[in-house]
Amino acid sequence: MSMINVTLPDGTINEYAEGITCAEVITDALGRKHGCLAAFVDGVEKDMSTKLSSSCSVKGILSVSEEGIHILRHSAAHLLAQAVTELYPGALPTIGPAIERGFYYDFKMDPITEADLKAIQKKMQFLAKQNAVVERIELNEEDLKSHFEHNPYKMEIINDKLEDGAGSTIYKQGEWYDLCLGPHVPNLSRLMFVKLTSVSSAYWRGDQEREQLVRIYGLVEPTKDALQATLKNIEEAKKRDHRKLGKDLQLFHIDEEVGQGLILWTPRGSIIRQELQDFISFHLRRQGYSQVFTPHVGKLDLYRTSGHFPYYQESQYPPLVEKDLMKKLADEGCSCSELANLMKSGDIDGYMLKPMNCPHHVKIYSSQARSYRDLPLRLAEFGTVYRWEQSGEISGMTRVRGFTQDDAHLFVTEEQIAEEVLGCIELVQIIFNKLGMTDYRVRVGLRDPDSDKYVGQPEAWDKAEDACRSAAQSLGVEWTEEEGEAAFYGPKIDFVVRDVIGREWQLGTVQVDYNLPERFDLSYKGNDGEMHRPVMIHRAPFGSMERFVGVLIEHFAGKFPTWLTPTQCHIITISEKHKQYAQEVADLLKEKEIRVLIDDGDDTIGKKIRTHRKMQPAYMVILGEGEAENRTVSLRARNGDQVSDLPLDQFIEDLMAEISNKESQPCLVPSQQQSED
Ligand SMILES: [Zn+2]
Ligand SMILES: [Zn+2]
Repeated sequence: MSMINVTLPDGTINEYAEGITCAEVITDALGRKHGCLAAFVDGVEKDMSTKLSSSCSVKGILSVSEEGIHILRHSAAHLLAQAVTELYPGALPTIGPAIERGFYYDFKMDPITEADLKAIQKKMQFLAKQNAVVERIELNEEDLKSHFEHNPYKMEIINDKLEDGAGSTIYKQGEWYDLCLGPHVPNLSRLMFVKLTSVSSAYWRGDQEREQLVRIYGLVEPTKDALQATLKNIEEAKKRDHRKLGKDLQLFHIDEEVGQGLILWTPRGSIIRQELQDFISFHLRRQGYSQVFTPHVGKLDLYRTSGHFPYYQESQYPPLVEKDLMKKLADEGCSCSELANLMKSGDIDGYMLKPMNCPHHVKIYSSQARSYRDLPLRLAEFGTVYRWEQSGEISGMTRVRGFTQDDAHLFVTEEQIAEEVLGCIELVQIIFNKLGMTDYRVRVGLRDPDSDKYVGQPEAWDKAEDACRSAAQSLGVEWTEEEGEAAFYGPKIDFVVRDVIGREWQLGTVQVDYNLPERFDLSYKGNDGEMHRPVMIHRAPFGSMERFVGVLIEHFAGKFPTWLTPTQCHIITISEKHKQYAQEVADLLKEKEIRVLIDDGDDTIGKKIRTHRKMQPAYMVILGEGEAENRTVSLRARNGDQVSDLPLDQFIEDLMAEISNKESQPCLVPSQQQSED
């Protein structure tokens, strides 16, 4: 028997007899309780039962790793299909992938309801307990087809996906098997902690013309605790969902008659947006930015020069054509496709809702002769842009068709790139820190060394990439370099925030650009008296106000810091008699630009508190006999904690300090409880 060398992750090389399995190697290296459910063999995912026939490297895949959880989920999808076919013998499994949170499987079967999921889940758990071994079996084309001849969906996959004459593999557990490339868990006891969550319908291959199928969704985790934690996070995510909270707290509205994906900022939501914009603007002024305003449309010619038209047409609203011209073309019997061609070729002109603010800012730059003394020129605008997202993609405030970017364009010399990128990053740091968003990471998008699609000089790219790297480094947070993720026109930095329940949100970006200055032939006079080309930096670090506020709603679960809270104080009277004092307190607060609301109605104090807490004010200010007599206030915090008899003047002073310091949470009521409600 010949021997092979197996390299382990720590660099050890062990000699084994050929034919040893991954499971045996890993048990030998890590002991019985290794917790791996598959392995990398020379970096490729394989089953634990894979026999090693030549020297290679082997690394176990733990169920808690990204690859491991994927295998666990896909294996649970198989188990689901086994359970469904045992309970519903006529059901035909089609496809069943792992997805971001769990897995699903689509079946051709009579419709079922959520109530039926319990029995299916029970069956899955029963099968998992039986702990059948999961086997990989290679079959030639003929055998493969004979295994699936009863299932036209699997036959379609075999006929479409496999080359003529090619076989494939099935995975078998007990008597049940599925067409699959694997890898899978070695045995079913790994799948004890499953939970079926919902049932919906889907079309075969996502095609509305094809058969309607039943889709069952589920979750699986390696341990009971992990499953409970996941379920808790899902509950918490539902509670925090900005679409729900946005409605409950009256922050924004989407109206079908206005249009899908077009946000109407209601008064309360507008306060949050305005406070954020003011905060960002303050720091922009401090950093030497100039505010500009530009219109919502631009001529097609502008976007021909910038390259946004016709190349990115799919992601934009269709162009607007001048009324007279439109009438003339219609009279001539011009069809829509002819019109599109005329616009594409530049034979007729029109306007476009702006998909980006950059071309407008470029025109402000080029409106004057520029010299090196003008640089860096930093133009900032909360600029509204429009993109045509597919209707299926639109969701709340985070995927929309019109949005306002916290946009700015910096026109800089090559030598200034590093410092300016750093300035952009500093701003992000200040704002994230104020908002308590301390868990974020940064991705630096670099060019693909094997591609030549990039504009600009390689030496310039090297410098710009270094600038992005060192800026990312300076943040002191986790950052990664991602080769091939740069745009063709320059490297970039992306910000990804992780919220309290572990979800990641991609916010905005800082992007170096060698392309637009070229396309618009921008120049400045250097101190050598020669003309030079500036470099542009696009930056919208928070993405858009819509997305950012959507993320903040979920981040704070609607419980905003006082400075962002739409109504900061809700003043509540205990009875009729305290009306006048309430008005006096409200006037004093308003004078200090504190946002207040008075409830001096007849409801009981208990009822008033219940009503008002729904709107999550920073404080409820409760006023009764004692307060009116002594010129004090009693405060009630969001979690129900209370403090009484604060002198009115002291309260106003402290509240103003809390707001101007932008404290991350209301802090005038000392915490009396172990945990928040
Ligand atoms: Zn499979
Ligand atoms: Zn831009």
